[in-house]
Amino acid sequence: MIHTFKRGVHPDYMKAPEIPISVVTPPPQVIIPMAQHIGAPDKPIVAVGDYVKMGQKIGENPAPVSAPVHASVSGKVVAIEPRPHPLGDMIMSVVIENDYKDTPCEDLPPLTAEQLKDPDAILTRIREAGVVGMGGAMFPTAFKIRGGIGKVDKLIINGAECEPYLNGDHLTMLNFPEQLLKGIELVRIASGVDKAYYGIEVNKKDAIELLNSLHPENYGIEIVPEKVKYPQGAEKMQVKAVTGREVKPGGIPSGVGANVVSTRTCYAIYQACYEGKPVIERIVTVAGSAMNKTSNALTRVGTPLGYLAEQCGGFAVTPRKIVLGGPMMGICATSFEAPTIKGTSGVLFFTEKEDKTVENPSCIRCGKCITVCPMNLMPVFMYMYYSKGDYEMMEKYHITDCFECGSCAFNCPARMPLTHAFKTAKLMFQAKAVKEKAAAEAAAAKEAKA
Ligand code: SF4
Ligand code: SF4
Repeated sequence: MIHTFKRGVHPDYMKAPEIPISVVTPPPQVIIPMAQHIGAPDKPIVAVGDYVKMGQKIGENPAPVSAPVHASVSGKVVAIEPRPHPLGDMIMSVVIENDYKDTPCEDLPPLTAEQLKDPDAILTRIREAGVVGMGGAMFPTAFKIRGGIGKVDKLIINGAECEPYLNGDHLTMLNFPEQLLKGIELVRIASGVDKAYYGIEVNKKDAIELLNSLHPENYGIEIVPEKVKYPQGAEKMQVKAVTGREVKPGGIPSGVGANVVSTRTCYAIYQACYEGKPVIERIVTVAGSAMNKTSNALTRVGTPLGYLAEQCGGFAVTPRKIVLGGPMMGICATSFEAPTIKGTSGVLFFTEKEDKTVENPSCIRCGKCITVCPMNLMPVFMYMYYSKGDYEMMEKYHITDCFECGSCAFNCPARMPLTHAFKTAKLMFQAKAVKEKAAAEAAAAKEAKA
């Protein structure tokens, strides 16, 4: 049986898993931002002039919703200063001059056989190794798993990789299948459940067959084949497809007893626990019509985007847009100097060929956006009230339940900038809430004084 969810779209997938993993030579300098997770940013724990080893912890924050960062090369710290971040803004970063020795740090030895069965030891290691949601969300994984213990009975591993272009998860399945199954088993043990369900889209038939041939049941894993449809890899859609449970608007998967962990995160957990390796590299798909070729590049965290492009065959033409992640939900980067981070699954260098923006688009009231929204929303009305700045009506149409999957914009014949509008609207709601909270606190303080 092939599992799925209602609605969604079928973009041109543009994938190239047949291109083998290539190893990118690390750059002369890596830039390690202190913000590579959701939550409190890290503080540097090294100083300019220090020598650091590859894998050494160089930034941390004691807050529970955080994850440390590690040096991805060995060498000398030459700067600690704000640098361009791939997701925008200038963010405090540690810059390391690469000595090209890759001298390893041995602070994290592989876990013992006993520890590999101990949920607490696994969770401590996941945190210490800086593992975050590597599907792109970058939520600290140890915190996510701990939060679900006792509440979650369905652990889902996300192997949909439904965004066009991206191949990292598929290639991890094909190249490291046993390691991946062991990583999933660790997540299952840490979560306190008997079984993990690995949802994989059937366009990865070779990977499904390979994983099934390795007896996933011995690791407490069942492979769940899923229909090829976007956004199958969104957490709520995975929960629906695998368990049939519906995450209510504003809710999260653990609210219906489910937790979703990505393929690449499970592999990082394998490396952290079995090999003592923190998150310092990942497979990044580098593609787009501005590139001479497509690469599935094993890349150190902290590699500047411009350098990465050069190493992956260089530009055929000057790119018009840099997209981090996939084209549907990816975020635009504005600087070639910004580095790759833990959540960078793809770097797409686009020209006008892919950039379908039109000037002054006009809605033709066709309703095609409504027919594809996986959240059952009404994008045409959300956009109309967003344009008017009508908060009450935007709320009535549940604009904050939009998770910016881009299906509506993809299906819109008029090319209305729907996703961009909803992203902005959600930021407007956040700003409004902050303003209202500040006003309420000021009023309470005034009243207390009187
Ligand atoms: S309204 Fe939001 S959730 Fe619905 S299709 Fe559009 S972007 Fe996706
Ligand atoms: S699909 Fe586009 S043109 Fe059609 S109703 Fe929705 S926003 Fe308007």
